[in-house]
Amino acid sequence: MGKCTYCGNSAGLFRRFHSECRDSFEKGLSRMTEKVADTIEKGTDLNDLISSLREICLEHRVPETSIKDKLIEGWGRALDRFLDDSLLTEEEEGRLSAFKSHFDLSDDDLDPSGALTKAAQAAALRDIVRGVMPHRPETGERIPFTLKRGEEIVWLFPDVHYYVQKTDLEYLGGSSTIGVRVADGVYFHPGAFRGKPLKTDETVHLGSGTMGVATKHLYFTGERITFRIPYRKIICCDQHEDGLCVTRYGPSAKPQIFRNGEGWFVYNLVRNIAKT
Ligand SMILES: [Zn+2]
Repeated sequence: MGKCTYCGNSAGLFRRFHSECRDSFEKGLSRMTEKVADTIEKGTDLNDLISSLREICLEHRVPETSIKDKLIEGWGRALDRFLDDSLLTEEEEGRLSAFKSHFDLSDDDLDPSGALTKAAQAAALRDIVRGVMPHRPETGERIPFTLKRGEEIVWLFPDVHYYVQKTDLEYLGGSSTIGVRVADGVYFHPGAFRGKPLKTDETVHLGSGTMGVATKHLYFTGERITFRIPYRKIICCDQHEDGLCVTRYGPSAKPQIFRNGEGWFVYNLVRNIAKT
């Protein structure tokens, strides 16, 4: 007779748990994440949170050692909710950061899910949309380009694959078949971002390397090629789930594609810097 891993009572022959015990456990975990996200979203007193989470643990037989993971997960969920409607406001950013320090969560706790990076990206986009150039987070990374005088790097993307489109017959677009002029910047929140994955069979891979989004140019440097594109020469910008496609003015200009897995951020970033 096996014992249920959740309640410890007999689970029956060849069984390791009662399905209702497992369901209750899973429900407890999701209630904990929701509780954390709600607390951050509503700005409720943080001092009561741990005791509420302990009550959920008790009710659903969840070990209290799960609490820290749920604080981390709930933080990411609150961020997603903040980003869902519009830009991350300063007040929302403040609540996330107060929560992080209240529960002594480190960058290493929050970043494995990508949530911390996403929060930094969201804050940078908010500034750019308002016309303020954000300062690149200090990472100690060397900038592998020679910037134009007076120019600054806004964001470095270290692992970017560069492609050009094989033919001009079909535009590699998101929802539209015509690229979107960059002259009018606009912000797409993650839920409204409609980029499709790139179709790499319609493109030629010309190298992999680092892309730099600077105040006046887009830079790329790979094993064989290094170039920069002035924003004023970019006629349109297309969103992709996993990257960005830009086209310059000119009859022979082919769409240039930068793929780094972060379409939402890089598209919003370039489109809003390029219009200024
Ligand atoms: Zn049980």
